[in-house]
Amino acid sequence: MSLFSRDRRTPLTDVDVVLADLDGVVYAGAGAIPHAIDSLKKVEASRRLGYITNNASRTDASVAAHLTELGLTVAPDEVVTSPQAAMRLVSSLIPAGSTILVVGGEGLVDEVHKAGFRVTRSADDAPAAVVQGFAPEVGWKDLAEAAFALKLPEDEGGIPWIATNTDWTIPQSRGVAPGNGTLVSAVHTAIGRLATVAGKPETPIFEEAVARFGAKHPLFIGDRLDTDIAGASRAGIESVLVLTGIDRPKHLLAAAEGSRPTYILGDLRELDEPYPQTQIKGDTVTVRGASVRVDGPDITILSEGDRPIDLVRAGAAAIWRTGRQIFGFRVPERLYADPFHRP
Ligand SMILES: [Mg+2]
Repeated sequence: MSLFSRDRRTPLTDVDVVLADLDGVVYAGAGAIPHAIDSLKKVEASRRLGYITNNASRTDASVAAHLTELGLTVAPDEVVTSPQAAMRLVSSLIPAGSTILVVGGEGLVDEVHKAGFRVTRSADDAPAAVVQGFAPEVGWKDLAEAAFALKLPEDEGGIPWIATNTDWTIPQSRGVAPGNGTLVSAVHTAIGRLATVAGKPETPIFEEAVARFGAKHPLFIGDRLDTDIAGASRAGIESVLVLTGIDRPKHLLAAAEGSRPTYILGDLRELDEPYPQTQIKGDTVTVRGASVRVDGPDITILSEGDRPIDLVRAGAAAIWRTGRQIFGFRVPERLYADPFHRP
């Protein structure tokens, strides 16, 4: 029996460790997202809080320093990066102390050394594995060395190839630039092999976080359905989608099974607020004052309620429970109106 009655439960009830994505959740570029810091400080005061990032070009220490500048209290070992997840993975595949061909920057080299491996940049040094992560200085020569080292397929005795992450894009202050996924894809095109991925949406990065914090009932907070929520779901971790980053209400309504969050929040203040029950009566789904009905291909808003987030929650639940694709519905625009904060 829980200490809390059902209608008093918040997304944090019974959670021992909160794990948060960074971009779109805590900050956007250099600046903090509204209400994120104050809300996370409250979490800090009550339970363990860790951060998970696919970004392979920054060290855990530099991420921790940035978060500390924003007003949080964060030690480097409270930041789980995709290079660390890659090291967890590679350690299970090759002998300790082996030489690894590194395609990437300081953040990655640092983790390879910390894990007790030697670093080479040349396929001629007979590396035991290739590890690839994003850094602005990665160039054609690095990709070519990776391709030479990986020319044998793995089932013919080829060495393992681990990518820290396969994000297609990397947001920059001047626009969107090609991410690690495009560089991994360049090597793939040359050799026809596929990399094993350590970062979100794959599970090693979540496994690393759960192991490091000894989490029994973690909650993951992210802003992207295809990496954050899909990854948490694969790792068996309950999740929050917060509407302060990449994915918007229309994406949420269309979310495929496997990338649907446990909770939907407008911003992080709601972490600490009672989370309303989803009530289902026939074809009608009600969340607090918001009610949505499904009639064949038509979605009808019966009542908008007082809070836009409740309408999104009701609409998503109504669509998801049909098991049908979003394309088959006529969805009123009000259902995916987007009054929430965008970075
Ligand atoms: Mg993000």
